[in-house]
Amino acid sequence: MSADESLLRSLGPARKMIVAIDGPAGAGKSTIARHLARHYGLLNLETGAMYRAFALKALRAALPLDESKSLEGLAAATTIRLEPGEESNRVLLDGEDVTGLIRNQMVTDAASRVSVFPAIRAWMVRLQQQLGAEGGVVMEGRDIGTVVFPHAEVKIFLDAAPEVRGLRRFDQLGPAPAVPPEEVIRDLRARDERDRNRADSPLKPAPDAVVLDSTHMTLEEAIQAAEAIVAAKLEQPSQGQ
Ligand code: C5P
Repeated sequence: MSADESLLRSLGPARKMIVAIDGPAGAGKSTIARHLARHYGLLNLETGAMYRAFALKALRAALPLDESKSLEGLAAATTIRLEPGEESNRVLLDGEDVTGLIRNQMVTDAASRVSVFPAIRAWMVRLQQQLGAEGGVVMEGRDIGTVVFPHAEVKIFLDAAPEVRGLRRFDQLGPAPAVPPEEVIRDLRARDERDRNRADSPLKPAPDAVVLDSTHMTLEEAIQAAEAIVAAKLEQPSQGQ
């Protein structure tokens, strides 16, 4: 048996498990999800990219973002697919690869607005449940452990102080950011507010989630802590059945 085969065999139950990673923006979910997916040979699915793709379509159609009915009509005529990619997922909106178009501030803000509507969420949740139905995924978002996969084997709620998250985001903007750090922190707080206070599926840890606060951690430390959470779950006997 090759080293890889023996690793995969030793992972046995890990290969079918669902790891739910939720938390506010800038908490490090994507990096940690990507790392766990590689480490355990799982598929990494970023649900935020799906809301972003739909928001892009709503912006292109110049729809009001505060009206559920017209957004629902748009959703009925929309297909969104997520495909695993090297660094992040490839996102296909009605067959068009929009991966490079959904990370700007306008789409970010729009995604946070369209995601408050129950009909839009119900549609997304259905798609996400289909994507993860076979197991073997790390799925990250805001409601994975609470709504999409309430029976996920591992649930991690990743958090950090807003200032720390905002500064991490600011650092990712490159050498000459167009906006000051205060603005990045302000936008992030506004998104947090909306995500935490919406009536449907507000952002909050599932009762059985492990809360990982990375405020005082380096990324490397946070990754190690997340790995330890998964490893501890895998060691529990029920995981092997
Ligand atoms: O994770 P990301 O920042 O890409 O998500 C974009 C927006 O989509 C979030 O601000 C949030 O409002 C929404 N979202 C959500 N539920 C998810 C994933 C994302 O409401 N599962």
